[in-house]
Amino acid sequence: MASVLIALGGNVGDVRATFAKAIAQICGMAQAALIARSADYATPPWGDEEQDPFINSCVEIETDLDPHALLFVLQKVEQKFGRTRDKERRWGPRTIDLDMIAYDDISLQKPDLTLPHPRLFERAFVLVPLAEIAPDRVISGIRVRDRLSSVSTQGIERLPDTG
Ligand code: ATP
Ligand code: CA
Ligand code: CA
Repeated sequence: MASVLIALGGNVGDVRATFAKAIAQICGMAQAALIARSADYATPPWGDEEQDPFINSCVEIETDLDPHALLFVLQKVEQKFGRTRDKERRWGPRTIDLDMIAYDDISLQKPDLTLPHPRLFERAFVLVPLAEIAPDRVISGIRVRDRLSSVSTQGIERLPDTG
């Protein structure tokens, strides 16, 4: 089984409810076990600041799917929850974004899949939830908690559990 870290984000609709359903769908479709799930965080928009705040979270799953098969599942789940990539702008509003952050220690540079995720270390909205579930994970030679301690987490707020 591979250990995979997935970052979730969204700022359209009932994002927290979408996350909960999406995680269940991913586990079902990828025959994956949910190993860890961070809290949800409200985070300032990134890339395009003229939009609503985002909610971000991270999960760790274990699956036997290979990276491309898992990417296909993530994209299916995004579509199922109303993601319409052809109609949106880069880093703009979306119902749900599912990014594969790391797949075991695999390093991959394909047109449709880069592992680990190339922008992970510059994004506090990924590092904060990631550090909650995998503080000691070393990705591309960098420990998650060490990187988190050197980025600004201004404006990021942990949301209370929905119960
Ligand atoms: P960013 O990648 O900067 O977070 P984004 O998530 O807004 O931007 P998308 O429009 O969701 O970008 O995805 C663009 C493409 O990125 C997808 O079609 C997918 O093939 C590719 N991609 C490359 N590496 C990954 C990865 N590790 N996880 C998910 N998608 C990836
Ligand atoms: Ca993304
Ligand atoms: Ca994405």
